[in-house]
Amino acid sequence: MEHTLRVLVRIDTKTSSACIEVRGCLVPENCGDLIGILRHTAALGAHLVVNLSRASHLDVLALDELLARADEVPSQPIAGGHTTVSVQIPERLPACLPPVPAHANPLDNELAFELAFLQRSTAVFRRPG
Ligand SMILES: [Zn+2]
Repeated sequence: MEHTLRVLVRIDTKTSSACIEVRGCLVPENCGDLIGILRHTAALGAHLVVNLSRASHLDVLALDELLARADEVPSQPIAGGHTTVSVQIPERLPACLPPVPAHANPLDNELAFELAFLQRSTAVFRRPG
């Protein structure tokens, strides 16, 4: 299953802050992309708030990596100090639907529709056996 990182960056020029809202999947494979976005945004001289509460999938290893590497994001001197990075984490880590194993029971119509059209999973198009 493909995990897609979707990020919305909002800049508040009054407070020199930026809200980076993650809405897709944050997994180890794309955590570096998010760090890159943080670096670019920090280069604008903004305090960063990373909001993970609307993510559809948060992998615990990616979260560890994000927290460990957030301090590496270079800070630039701005009026009153340096940029900061804070991370808002939901109480539970959400996960997108797992891939359907080839030996799984036949799909019912509702699940097939969900996977094929809402999740766009190619697993439902595989022939059994
Ligand atoms: Zn995912």
